Amino acid sequence: MLNLTQQNWNGQNTPFYFYDLNLLQQTLQAARTEANRYGYHVHYALKANSNEPILKLIQQAGFGADCVSGNEIKQALATGFRADQIVFAGVGKSDAEINFALEHDIFCFNCESMQELEIISELAQQQNKIARIALRINPNVNANTHKYITTGLEENKFGINTWELADVLALLRRLPNLELIGIHFHIGSQITDLVVFEKLSLRVNEIQQWFREQAFNLKHLNVGGGLGVDYHAPEENPIPDFAAYFAIFNEHLAVQPGQVVHFELGRALVAQCGTLLSKVLYIKKGQKKNFAILDAGMTELIRPMLYQAYHKIDNLTSNLPEQVYDVVGPICESSDCFAQNVALPETKRHDLIAIRTAGAYAEVMASNYNLREKAPAIYK
Ligand SMILES: *Cc1c(COP(=O)(O)O)cnc(C)c1O
Repeated sequence: MLNLTQQNWNGQNTPFYFYDLNLLQQTLQAARTEANRYGYHVHYALKANSNEPILKLIQQAGFGADCVSGNEIKQALATGFRADQIVFAGVGKSDAEINFALEHDIFCFNCESMQELEIISELAQQQNKIARIALRINPNVNANTHKYITTGLEENKFGINTWELADVLALLRRLPNLELIGIHFHIGSQITDLVVFEKLSLRVNEIQQWFREQAFNLKHLNVGGGLGVDYHAPEENPIPDFAAYFAIFNEHLAVQPGQVVHFELGRALVAQCGTLLSKVLYIKKGQKKNFAILDAGMTELIRPMLYQAYHKIDNLTSNLPEQVYDVVGPICESSDCFAQNVALPETKRHDLIAIRTAGAYAEVMASNYNLREKAPAIYK
């Protein structure tokens, strides 16, 4: 599947990100087809990867945009996403970001606290507008994923807790410049156990029932994103099982007549199309360990260091018998290690190393720590 050949990278200085746009298109097509079966609206979470050529394909494939900053909204609009396809989430929206979103009449603010509701109403009033909002509710459903990418538990900073909802509705009745159009959930990322989405659906049903009892009919249900990808076998499973994913919601979510269901997928759409390519600078043999020291590090891909994430690592230029290495970067931090005890064909200086499944939450998190250059992206 990975469209990476000698000609594609020859002459390119490492490290660089390689994006397989064919695979991206096949992935978008698969997601589109499965979502269309049920009339679901999918918004792409720009924070996973906001490179222009990638955004363009996603926009052309008919997805909306899920933004978590004013600049993401700006980028989405510049790419051609319509304002009425843009949702805006985040626990800490600044006044400037809210004003920008109001000026452009985005589809919906996903609101995370009572104070935020008051501020959005106040700013909307100043612009003589009614802001469409959804309440991001913390459903207290465990995503069974790494604790740093779990967002739907009461101890997480995200969303409004269900015990606050009565107060929230009382507040909404007093805020004239807000229109409540739906409820929103996003419980975490890299979720591979689909039962989690069944639990989420059942919880959404309970919460929706409560709203109906309070005489609020919600036009929109937004169940967020979080579908995981196969980091261990990217070649075997380049495209996530969108059929199973959307079918779970179709089976368990109690959708009311006329109600529109929204999703916000990030990782599942873009993770597998990206690879980080790097060259080996040095092999350092120790008594306990062999280190393969790469010219890429946490400045290009921080997921292993930040979330203990696994990425498959391949040596593309050696077929010698295997040895065991700690694959590390050049950054002056002991945490700058992609993986420990990896079996690779015997590796030498200048071998080309591919770190797979680096399309999501990789290039977007790049930094210039140690005053490093930004690694370029190439597309095929
Ligand atoms: C990050 C994020 C997403 C996308 O999550 P993935 O795991 O990449 O699908 C969706 N919605 C919100 C509110 C987010 O913050």
